[in-house]
Amino acid sequence: MLCRSCHCQFADGIKECPDCRHPVPVSWKLLKTVYPPEDTLIKGFLESCGIPVIIRQRESIGRVQGLSFGPLAEVMIMVPEETLQEAKLLIDSESFSSDTH
Ligand SMILES: [Zn+2]
Repeated sequence: MLCRSCHCQFADGIKECPDCRHPVPVSWKLLKTVYPPEDTLIKGFLESCGIPVIIRQRESIGRVQGLSFGPLAEVMIMVPEETLQEAKLLIDSESFSSDTH
């Protein structure tokens, strides 16, 4: 990994440059594409495990008609790259699905 500020090189997974303390930008990765309300379930679950989550809606679609059901309401669960594997294991161990519990 390369510092964007001073361009010194350091190990992956570090939160800030050890040299100039410049914070390392988080690289968000797509974990899963789901439909509401599954997104809030997964978000709450992962956050309780200490993994930050952002929900990204497919922009072009959400703004067109404001539909909240069906394939158009698809949302993307994003997690930091370094937590992607862990997050996958966590949600695999839980059975998240569109079914209500
Ligand atoms: Zn630096």
